[in-house]
Amino acid sequence: MSDIQTGTTPYQASKEEFLATRLDHVTDLIQKMGINWARKNSLWPMPFATACCGIELMATGASRYDIGRFGAEAMRFTPRQCDLLICAGRVAIKNMRVLQRIYMQMAEPKWVISMGACASTGGVFDTYAVVQGIDQFLPVDVYVPGCPPRPETLLEGVMLIQRLVDQDGIKSSAQRGKGLRLVVPAPQQRLIDLNVPGRN
Ligand code: SF4
Repeated sequence: MSDIQTGTTPYQASKEEFLATRLDHVTDLIQKMGINWARKNSLWPMPFATACCGIELMATGASRYDIGRFGAEAMRFTPRQCDLLICAGRVAIKNMRVLQRIYMQMAEPKWVISMGACASTGGVFDTYAVVQGIDQFLPVDVYVPGCPPRPETLLEGVMLIQRLVDQDGIKSSAQRGKGLRLVVPAPQQRLIDLNVPGRN
């Protein structure tokens, strides 16, 4: 423990102040050494699948597309263990309160993917009973287009979240305001070589 000089008055730092200063340094160091690298490669998704988009979400988690390659395979069904909400499918007005409650229960910092036309805009369900875009009620960070989006497109969305985590640090969603509202570009139409084994 050492004296700290403020002007001409000698200052004796207390034991608590000394420890707090050192902890600040440790936190800074951990951030510089890559806490974001660790966080972006261990996203814990909270799936909120209400309709057909949910099937593509399940395919994304299965062996062929293997979301585990991005460290996001640990899907949990309790929001307190999750930091990435993936809303896949239409959301009825009556269900919105449930979705909001799930979001509020998730740990900070947290991110939101709106998967598919229905979650993002209501899609074909242009009716009073369906939410015409969850961003009216939640801060959406990434929109994944499609009806339904292919698993590759959802993976693009996850990678976009990873880039956000890397750049954004550990800010809470409250600090980030209404969400970042980025859109995954529509996938390019690819010609599928029918002669490739395993392709349909
Ligand atoms: S966007 Fe299309 S596939 Fe997804 S829930 Fe709506 S109707 Fe179903």
